[in-house]
Amino acid sequence: MSKSAARKQKGVILIADGMGDRPIDLLEGRTPLEAASTPNLDRLAAEGECGMMDPVAPGVRAGSDTSHLALLGYDPHACYTGRGPFEVAGVGLEVKGGDICFRCNFASVDENMVVTDRRAGRIAEGTQELTAAVEGMTIGDVKCFFKESVEHRGALILRGPGLGHQVSDADPHNEGAKVLAAEGVDEASKKTAAAVNEFVKRSYEALRKHPVNLEREKQGKPPANIILPRGAGVAPALDSFRDRYGISGAAVVETALIAGIARYLALDLPDVPGATGGYDSDESALAQAVLAALKDHDFVICNFKAPDLAGHDGNAAKKVKCIEKMDRLVGEVVSNLRGPTHVVVSADHSTPVSYKDHSGDSVPILFWGPEVRRDGVQAFGERPCAAGGIGRIQGRYIMHILTNLMGTQEKFGA
Ligand code: ZN
Ligand code: ZN
Repeated sequence: MSKSAARKQKGVILIADGMGDRPIDLLEGRTPLEAASTPNLDRLAAEGECGMMDPVAPGVRAGSDTSHLALLGYDPHACYTGRGPFEVAGVGLEVKGGDICFRCNFASVDENMVVTDRRAGRIAEGTQELTAAVEGMTIGDVKCFFKESVEHRGALILRGPGLGHQVSDADPHNEGAKVLAAEGVDEASKKTAAAVNEFVKRSYEALRKHPVNLEREKQGKPPANIILPRGAGVAPALDSFRDRYGISGAAVVETALIAGIARYLALDLPDVPGATGGYDSDESALAQAVLAALKDHDFVICNFKAPDLAGHDGNAAKKVKCIEKMDRLVGEVVSNLRGPTHVVVSADHSTPVSYKDHSGDSVPILFWGPEVRRDGVQAFGERPCAAGGIGRIQGRYIMHILTNLMGTQEKFGA
């Protein structure tokens, strides 16, 4: 094995969620990124190397989850089995390859197991205590791991030998309907279904007389007296970010879904007070979290959610403002770096204002840092970047390019 002699540098990927867009009449034919005032992004583009990036592949409408997997070098076509396992990881459960993962609701049922409220009155308090009454259950050789999430939501993992994931829901998805017996299509899934049904039954036994529910009933609120799993998915076996790249990493993110991806890859997830995932999110808090994480990690990825929201809302003026926030975030990171660091700025997909959803349009990307070859691009935007030295790449190549610049990549061959 030949280690490169180059000094190891740090790397940062700063993602403006859904930033890519199409020309808009209201903006005189410019995209929101082209129309926004972005002095920091333009400076980095002028000093760095630019291009266009297809997050998953040309024309593919990527979700934020599949895109972030690709951007981190994990092929979503090979490893994405649905959002369930990543959501479960996002709730804070430790997921292992082969686990069967479910989303769950605390719900209310009557004595005939008829669902009277699928969300148990959107229960806001006491779910931790209810969780304590059901966690750590073992059903035969199957271990159950349950964790509450916000309001009536929760997540369940079933772990054990010979479990399949083709299992129907116990949740009838309708009030006035009886709790369903989960069914599996094959032998392995039948084993899972039996465990699900037992879990549901035991959850009712453990919760129906629980003090939290007795108190709720006293107050005339629907009891959270059963847990209903749905949306079974099998967890893919993925090597951790550190195992794959040999470097430490952290993720500064605002949404549970992307946090779930990060946790799945064993990236550290610092708390960011002020990161709301909404329009009011504090971009400076995100920048400071990136800088803090860089002190004890080789690599940090950051996702700023707001531009995507404006795209979904179809609001061009708001999207311009969100991109200007992104520009300040990037400026604050770059002007406070300590030591040689390479910075990538891009989007995880386009969310065009005219389309109000994720489109398959490519997104601009820039690489900036001491080892980057400068090209002739002078501004950061969809059209200027199309003329850049990076050309047009797919998301899965970003980590190749970045670890090459950082000097942390093993040589391929002799
Ligand atoms: Zn996204
Ligand atoms: Zn979106």
